[in-house]
Amino acid sequence: MNGHMPVDPEEYFTQVAAGLDGLALVPDEVLWEIVTRDGACMQLYRLDLEPEWARDELTDRELAARICAHCPVQWECLELQLRTSGEHTLGVWGALSAEDVRALHPVWQSRRQSQGRRRGGQDGGQE
Ligand code: SF4
Repeated sequence: MNGHMPVDPEEYFTQVAAGLDGLALVPDEVLWEIVTRDGACMQLYRLDLEPEWARDELTDRELAARICAHCPVQWECLELQLRTSGEHTLGVWGALSAEDVRALHPVWQSRRQSQGRRRGGQDGGQE
């Protein structure tokens, strides 16, 4: 993720949703622990630091690109936000603006639902 909107948003959101597949089975509390411990913005908050660009006039996408650029837990942060706020997201999370997280949410949700159905089938569940 880089905070830049690509030429084809649908394809972009499909790729981002696919990138989150590996986190599907990680419990919420584990994601929460990882994000609050290692998130770049959390470090700034803990150290009470203000980035040099904090007072710049930035769009949400520009802010996401700056604050999250070197964050090591972008995927975990985005996964957690999709689970907890999803279509009602506000602010910047996982290197995406709120607008982009809201657009990603139905793509992510539909992918998860179809994976859940497949897993149910593999585990002997009824489809
Ligand atoms: S991805 Fe961005 S919002 Fe999420 S923890 Fe990292 S810096 Fe903070």
